[in-house]
Amino acid sequence: MKKRIAVLKKEYCNPVGCGDYLCVKLCPMNRAGKECIVKGEDSKPQINEIICTGCGICPNRCPFHAISIINLPSELNQEPIHRFGPNGFALYSLPTPIFGKVVGIVGVNGIGKSTAIKILAGELKPNFGRDESASYDELIEFFKGTEAQKFFEKVKAGEIKVGYKPQAVDQIPKIFEGTVKELLQKADEKNMFEEIAKKLDLVRVIDRDVKHLSGGELQRVAIAATVLKKANLYIFDEPTSYLDIKQRIKLSKFIQELADEETAVLVIEHDLIILDHMTDLTHIMYGLEGVYGIVSMPRTTRVGINMYLDGYIKEENIRFRDHRIKFDTQPIEREESDIVMSSWSSVEKKLGNFSLKAEPGEVKKRDVIGILGENGIGKTSFVRILSKEIEPDSGEINEKIKIAYKPQHLKGGDELVSVVLQTAIQKFENQLIIPLGIKPLLFKKLNQLSGGELQRVSIAQCLSQDADLFLLDEPSAYLDVEQRLRVSKIMADLMEVSGKSCLVVDHDLLFIDYLSKKLIVFDGEPAISGVVKGPFSMEDGMNLFLNDLNITMRRDEESSRPRVNKLDSRKDREQKSGNKLYYV
Ligand code: SF4
Ligand code: SF4
Repeated sequence: MKKRIAVLKKEYCNPVGCGDYLCVKLCPMNRAGKECIVKGEDSKPQINEIICTGCGICPNRCPFHAISIINLPSELNQEPIHRFGPNGFALYSLPTPIFGKVVGIVGVNGIGKSTAIKILAGELKPNFGRDESASYDELIEFFKGTEAQKFFEKVKAGEIKVGYKPQAVDQIPKIFEGTVKELLQKADEKNMFEEIAKKLDLVRVIDRDVKHLSGGELQRVAIAATVLKKANLYIFDEPTSYLDIKQRIKLSKFIQELADEETAVLVIEHDLIILDHMTDLTHIMYGLEGVYGIVSMPRTTRVGINMYLDGYIKEENIRFRDHRIKFDTQPIEREESDIVMSSWSSVEKKLGNFSLKAEPGEVKKRDVIGILGENGIGKTSFVRILSKEIEPDSGEINEKIKIAYKPQHLKGGDELVSVVLQTAIQKFENQLIIPLGIKPLLFKKLNQLSGGELQRVSIAQCLSQDADLFLLDEPSAYLDVEQRLRVSKIMADLMEVSGKSCLVVDHDLLFIDYLSKKLIVFDGEPAISGVVKGPFSMEDGMNLFLNDLNITMRRDEESSRPRVNKLDSRKDREQKSGNKLYYV
């Protein structure tokens, strides 16, 4: 018999709006006299998974996309570890912390990564899909013979103490008032706050009020506060958001150094290049957003990421995506337009103590240009100069163009998504609303959206504006790997069809590599000076950028995805001596 689950997203369900329990009226089993969907005590429908035949009528007809009826992979022969009530989200299995190792988790958003982490952190007692919580003995029995068994034996004996860095670091100023020093001193159980602040480059901002920190600074403060806790399991949920590439590489080393015989580290990360660099083993999590999630066995990270891109887990014989994610071994050659959209001569601008210089350059029609550089090096100021919002001190911008801008930090509000995205709904349903998965969000308010949902809405809002040049600042933040790659494709297709151009500032190198035809590279010293160079071809731009980072990259033999070479490895030395830091 097929294993079927029925999940109702209660926050989407609106029994009055759909015409008085449309699903209850339409269900053929109900019509045949059975009680397959009934009105529950909370006034929301309840679906009996045993009676339901999976005919597909209710999920297709519910106008609010509230119902999912899913046939689980037949190979999945286990009960859920946890279920949020009847017709609630179901999580199958758990990631395994391993002492001495950094274990990564990769997967799409909304498939239970946070739930899994809460269970491991002891914040949520799993229930095996029943009404009551399970005992630790049951968990130990469930995982018998695996690393997880050892872990839960320690949990039962009270020997696990967890340090947890949550995803949403933007919330810190809402829950803590005071300076960075005060926050770190409060968290400091190891008496090491000065040393950790130094390692995470926080000394410069140590006396600053947390209210006045940038996203990247907040991220590093949150990481510092986590590791200052005396713990033997550290969990980092998306530790690289808002960090630039230099900081990401540095953080990888910092996190690797935490793992020892007595300490396990778990990391959820969507930047695949960094996940690859930072972790020893990786779990794939797959499933359906808000409906169910399955955790695979851990594999070495190289194999795990390749399987994830493949969409197929060979040993478990499970295909969780109907297509492979492919990477081109060479940048795609596309015909370049002769029409210049925007151009600038040698430009200079002083902004307080910061000075910005740009070498002459131009953006052509249909260009999709990635912008790489450290935080605080003048990327946003340069774009404001391009849009003629700021006058340069010397040099000039030759064309007057309309610019649409998506900022790095997104603001929620009281407005409905459908109101904010009116133009996108009218003109770009197929190009933006459907591929970005925004339809189910239309009747939500902006402040009810998760970070990833708000990001997708902001991208749609920016790209639907009447503009010549689109500038997107960190569109990858809070998006999972698949969403990042989908956004790349949406932008490239839209520019190709509309003849417009776009500039994308981002720190996920794989995303930039996948998306861009050209690169602008920012050189200089954060908060002191910035020099804008380019646009270059991908190869020249990457060579320049990687040279500054002192890293080299190769393509994985199997999946062709970019990987960072180990410093001083044979490949690293060979590539450096041939000045081919990338694309070999
Ligand atoms: Fe109506 Fe959909 Fe809710 Fe059923 S699930 S009551 S069709 S809104
Ligand atoms: Fe009824 Fe199940 Fe069909 Fe929905 S999918 S209409 S619950 S039989």
